[in-house]
Amino acid sequence: MKEFSAPEAVLMVLSFIVVVCFVVYCLSGERRGSLLPTYSIRTTSASPHNSNQQTRATQNEEHDGLLGNRNNHSSIDIQRTSVDVELQRTQQRLEQERMRIEADRALAAASRQRAEDESRRREVLRQQREKEQKQAEIITDRLHEIHVLLIDEIDYFIRTRRRFDSRNPLNFEVQLHQLVAEEDIQNAFQDLQDVYNDANFRLVANKFHQYPSIQEFIRNASNNFVLKESQILNGNGTQQTTMISVKHLTPFQGSDTHRVFGEFNCFQCNNTWSSASTWKDKWQQCRNCESKCYPFTQHVLLQSDNRGDGELRPHHSHRCQKCKELGRLCNPGRFYSV
Ligand SMILES: [Zn+2]
Ligand SMILES: [Zn+2]
Repeated sequence: MKEFSAPEAVLMVLSFIVVVCFVVYCLSGERRGSLLPTYSIRTTSASPHNSNQQTRATQNEEHDGLLGNRNNHSSIDIQRTSVDVELQRTQQRLEQERMRIEADRALAAASRQRAEDESRRREVLRQQREKEQKQAEIITDRLHEIHVLLIDEIDYFIRTRRRFDSRNPLNFEVQLHQLVAEEDIQNAFQDLQDVYNDANFRLVANKFHQYPSIQEFIRNASNNFVLKESQILNGNGTQQTTMISVKHLTPFQGSDTHRVFGEFNCFQCNNTWSSASTWKDKWQQCRNCESKCYPFTQHVLLQSDNRGDGELRPHHSHRCQKCKELGRLCNPGRFYSV
C-alpha cells in the first residue's frame, strides 16, 4: 500500500472537503428550485455597463424568489377564498331553493285546505238543502191535509143542517156567520194559521196562499163552495149577508171508479142509513119513502165499514143510481167485501 506524504494528505482532505461542499451546494440549490438558470437569465438581461444594476438585479432576484413563494401562498389563499365564496353562493342558492320548495309546499297545502273547506261547505249546504226539502215536503203535506180537513168540516157543516135537503144539495145555503161560529171549523182554521206561522212555512210560502179569514178560505175554495154576497134591505137599512152553498151533489169528488162509504139522511122522512157502495155525485133511494137522496158524508172504505153489526149486509142495487146506470151490481160481490 502506497504511503501518502503529509502535504498530499492535506491536499486530498481539502479536495474532499471542496467536493463535499459543492455537492451539498448543488443539492440545496435543487431543493430551492433551480436557482442557477434564473441567475443566468437575470445576468443576461441586466445592463452590462452598470454593475450596480447587476447587484440590484441579484438582490431583486432574491427578493422575487421570496415573493414567488409568497405569491404561491396568496394565490392558493385566493383560490381558497374563491372556492369558499362559490361554496357560500351554492349554499345560499340551495337555501333559496329549499325556501322556494317550502313556500310551494305551503301554497299547495293551503290550496288543498281551501278545496277541503269548499267541499265541506258544499256538503253542509247540500245537507241543508236536503233538510229544507224534507221540511218543505212535510209542511206541504201538512198544508194539503189541513186544507182537505177544513173543506170537509165546512162541507159537513152545510150538509148536516136541519134544513139541508139531501135531495137537492146545491139549493141549500147557510149564512157565513153561522158557519164561522162552528168550533170544528174554527179549530181547523186555527191549525192552518199555525202552519203559516211555522218557521218552515217560508220554504213553501210562494206555493200557498195565506188566508186571513175563513171567508177568504171559502172564497178561494171555489172548487167546493159557492159564496154569495148580497145586500138585504130591512128596517135598519141595508145589511151585507154572505151565503154559502156546496158546489157538488156529494162530498166525495174523487174518481168515478172509486166506491166509498157514505151516510144518508132522508129529508122527506128523516130516515137514515149507510152504505159501503156510494159514488161521486150518485144518489140512493130512501129505504123508507124511496126519495132519491145524496149522502151527506162520505169517506174512503175501511175494513170495518163492510161489517155493520158483525153481519154482511146486501147492497140495495135497485135503489142505487150507479147500479141502475151500470145495469149490474155496482160493487164487486153480492155482499160488501174489500
Ligand atoms: Zn125517506
Ligand atoms: Zn150500487
